[in-house]
Amino acid sequence: MLKNKYVIYDAADGFKPSTASCYWFIFCQDEILLKVTDSCQCEIPKGSDAPVNVEPWNRIHPIAKIENHDCVAVSVDMSDAPEGYVFYPLRQSFNVLPYVFYSIAGKAREILYWDKNTQYCGACGSPMKFHTTISKRCTCCGKEVWPSLAIAIIVLISHNDEVLLVQSRKFKGNYYGLVSGFVETGENLEQCVIREVLEETSLEIDHLQYVGSQAWPFPSALMAAFRAQYVRGNLNLQYSELSKGGWFKWNNLPDLPKEDSIARKMIDKWVHEQRGL
Ligand SMILES: [Zn+2]
Repeated sequence: MLKNKYVIYDAADGFKPSTASCYWFIFCQDEILLKVTDSCQCEIPKGSDAPVNVEPWNRIHPIAKIENHDCVAVSVDMSDAPEGYVFYPLRQSFNVLPYVFYSIAGKAREILYWDKNTQYCGACGSPMKFHTTISKRCTCCGKEVWPSLAIAIIVLISHNDEVLLVQSRKFKGNYYGLVSGFVETGENLEQCVIREVLEETSLEIDHLQYVGSQAWPFPSALMAAFRAQYVRGNLNLQYSELSKGGWFKWNNLPDLPKEDSIARKMIDKWVHEQRGL
């Protein structure tokens, strides 16, 4: 492969070739290419050349810097990883990558997803052209678009020494998580939490407390996390959304979401508090 043949779009400087060693966040659909080291560890490939063939139409996106090294994202079509590399599901890469790389991989996936889905203007149908690294402008009517996030809430509801855990029909696995849902137009986060809990469980809650948020790049969401306390109502699950659920004591919990999720962090923190009481 020729050195420095890649063209990376930089809004400030125009098109410029990559001249330095980059971290390559290479995706094939939802899987990320990782290099397998001699000690069988996985890492993000690094070098002035991509470890796979990048076609001229595979746009390379600058997305971040780590220690003065550009992090670039590119989507490729290929069936097998080259020797010494492996395609890894993005979410599972949490278990093998340092968090900073996992986090950038999530951003890379979101940018690639957005680029793929905004090739044409939603208003007039003309081709869109990059205006900055994270915005595009219609070549005909001038409409601008940026990566958009779906905003979701997730809530841990407790009642004395019990927590409400539910199993969404979307879960891949027999574990229990927390009530969650997407914010609707015209709603604020708190209204969304109260509505989702009422819709999915028939329970009323109060003492809403914002806990934190988490980027959720599957494919592009932002999760806002809350805690709340049960007030009244009998648990009555919305079976179109949830397959099962119930109140669980802190020392008798079912299988829980993975450690990368804010749901798991909230449950672990609540258990820790209960244990100390
Ligand atoms: Zn247009």
